[in-house]
Parts: sequence; C-alpha cells; structure tokens
Amino acid sequence: MPDPRRAVPRTDQLLADPRLREAADRLGPVLVKRAVAAAQQRCRDGALAPAAVADEAVAALPPAATTLRRVVNATGVVVHTNLGRAPLSAAAVEALRTAAGATDVELDLTTARRGRRGRGTLEALAAAVPDAEAVHVVNNGAAALALVTRVLARDGGSVVIARGELVEIGDGFRIPELMESVGARLREVGTTNRVRVEDYAAAVDGTTAFVLKVHPSNFSVRGFTSSVPVADLATLGAPLVVDIGSGLLAPHPRLPDEPDAATTLRAGADLVTASGDKLLGGPQCGLLLGRAALLERLRRDPFARALRVDKLTLAALEATLAGPVPPVAAALSRSVGDLRARAAAVVAALPDDLGANVVDSDGAVGGGGAPDVVIPSAAVALPESYAEPLRALDLPVVGRLERGRLLLDLLAVDPAEDAALVAAVRRVAEPG
Ligand SMILES: *Cc1c(COP(=O)(O)O)cnc(C)c1O
Repeated sequence: MPDPRRAVPRTDQLLADPRLREAADRLGPVLVKRAVAAAQQRCRDGALAPAAVADEAVAALPPAATTLRRVVNATGVVVHTNLGRAPLSAAAVEALRTAAGATDVELDLTTARRGRRGRGTLEALAAAVPDAEAVHVVNNGAAALALVTRVLARDGGSVVIARGELVEIGDGFRIPELMESVGARLREVGTTNRVRVEDYAAAVDGTTAFVLKVHPSNFSVRGFTSSVPVADLATLGAPLVVDIGSGLLAPHPRLPDEPDAATTLRAGADLVTASGDKLLGGPQCGLLLGRAALLERLRRDPFARALRVDKLTLAALEATLAGPVPPVAAALSRSVGDLRARAAAVVAALPDDLGANVVDSDGAVGGGGAPDVVIPSAAVALPESYAEPLRALDLPVVGRLERGRLLLDLLAVDPAEDAALVAAVRRVAEPG
C-alpha cells in the first residue's frame, strides 16, 4: 500500500497554481498558506483525494484579508450596536479610500509647512453647527467625556450630576465610573426620578469643576419625574457640559425628544459632547462643541493626544457632514408606504411556496437613542427556520425573530440591497 503522505501535493506545487498565486497577491501569503495547509491535512487524513487538494484550498480561501464581513441589516434597528452602529455613506467610503494612502492631513500643500490636522473636517463640523464657537473631535463619545473631565476636574474639583443621569452606556461601561477613572469626584444630586434646579444650586460651590447633564439615551423613566432644562442649569454659575449622546446636530422632526447640539448650545451649554456614529451617521468618533477658550484648553492638553482620531475618521466624518444624506438619516426619512411597496416587491420575487408575506413592523432607532420611538416599518415574514441559514451566507442577512417568524425588516436596508435580499432568500430556499 502506498504511503498516503507521499501522495499529498507539495506546498510549493500548490502555491504555483495560478488561482492561489493570484490569491496570495490579493490576500497575502499567510492566509493562502493556511488554506493550503488545511487542505493538505485533509488529504493526509484520507478525507481528500490528492488531485482535489488545490481545488479545496481555493474553495477555502477567505473572501478578504479581514474577518469582518459585510452584512445586510434587516433587523429594523437603524443604529444597531452589534452591526457596527451607523453604516457610512458612499461618499464617506470614498473619502476613506482617498485618505488611506499618503494624504495631506497635516500638511499645507501651498506652503509645504505643517498644517492644522484635520482642518477641513473641523471646518465642516463648525459650519454644520454655527452656534459652536469652536469644535474638536476625539475617538468616541466616552473619550469626549473623559477629556473634559480630566482637564476640568483633575485638580479635585467636583462634577455635579443628577442621580437619574448616572447612565450605563453598554457592555458594562458606566459614565460615572468612566469619570472617576480620570480623577473626577462626583457630587450626585436629586433622586432617581426627580431633580430640581435648587438641588443643583445647593451643590454648586467654589470646588465645582462643572455641572454635567447626561441625556438618558438608552432608557426612559416614566411617571413622577422631573429633570432640569439646560437653560436653568446655565444660570448656576459653573461651566455647564451636556452629553447629548446621539450626535444630532439640529432638531429632527421624527425624534422630538432627542436633544441636538445647536439647541443645547443656544440654551446656554458651554460644551456639548456627542457620538459621531449614532444619529449623525458617521464614523466612530466623539464630538466636542462649544466655547472657544474651553476647547483650546482641551485641545492643548497632553491627554488629548491619547484620544486623537486617525486620518480615516477625519475623512469619513468630513464626507458625512459635507456630503449627501448618510444612510441613518435616509432610513429615518422612509415612509411606511414605500417600505410596504418594497416588501411587496421582495415577496413577489420569491417562490410562492415559501409562505413569505408582507407584514407591518415596529422599527427602532436602536443604540443611537430615542428608546421610546417606534418607527412604522414593513417586513417580509418568513418561517423562523430561515434565520440561521441566512446568517451563514457569504453576504449574511440578519433579521429579527418575532412571534415564531423571521422578519426581514426593510427600514435599515438600503433599497439598492433589496435585490441581494431576494437572492439570499432564494439561495436558502433552493440550495444548489
Ligand atoms: C452612546 C453614549 C455615550 C458613549 O458614546 P460612545 O461614542 O459609544 O463612546 C455617552 N453618553 C451618552 C448619553 C450616549 O448615548
């Protein structure tokens, strides 16, 4: 009997296969060698004929050099934390490509001198919020709060905050603990459900670094409640910082209870902090907007360097601000009539015997804020058994399980992806 190991094709022979050579150029040698080694092992184990090893290695190649995969978000949740929050606009993606190579992020091309890093992005943000005297961008919303806290409260000054606004933002991270981790002493006022301006006034004294108002963006408290408007907090004589959370720059007609940067600054906030990848619809980043003197202090602090955003973020944020409507805003402006029509077209393109039908659905903003807002939407309902195979496709489709059915909600799906959705369901329905 021949030794099966003799028959296993050699690595150099396999790597000479034109398909694997091309893949090595595209994906790099490591991933290709891994696929080759796995196929050789199956051959050694007797599970694969020697002549099939090259084909098996080609079939096992990953689609890209990243393990992250594009997915279709058919959950009905517009800003889905587990699906990467805001999807970027085509213009922002194009900006990422432009900035990916050598770029003039810190060079003035007319003088060949060092230029202000990210100048165009900061100008676009300032132009979008004329009420802000100055702006700054850091890595995320949490970084924005950490920077403010560290710079303004590190000398033992206290931060006055309502008990009802001690928010856990997700994955076990809590705003009060974040602030204490950079040296703040918190002075809590009021109760879980109620706080008055007098509570703040009694707590503000010579040791107060700033008053912080945090938008409860991921929960709501109903019943016997009260909180203090920004305009009243602005009269207390201490700097007022407002964490608005979602990054709306101006009021949104569909989200009347969601605070926005312009209104908050006009009401008297000295500084507003927000995330860039929630309702603003941009890349992950943290926005700081407000008084010029405060922002200059924050920007020049050594700690700011540890929170600095990269050129990719600057590029994508600028294109989000200056370019066409980003996908999050587009999703929030869809009418239920249009969504029903799209769902009907998807159902019409599927085989009759699937039992697919159009249903009305409750869409949501998601991790981006507005926990009480229901966005009327429409979905394609399928048997629950479709959920797992749809997630296993090359282009995974993630829907929502509801009352024993799988709903493919179209609210957060770009209309250009409807055809891919149809193809995905057909593939699962008719394998092979
Ligand atoms: C989301 C959120 C944060 C955290 O922002 P990240 O960008 O996720 O770091 C902080 N505060 C509020 C009110 C938020 O909604």
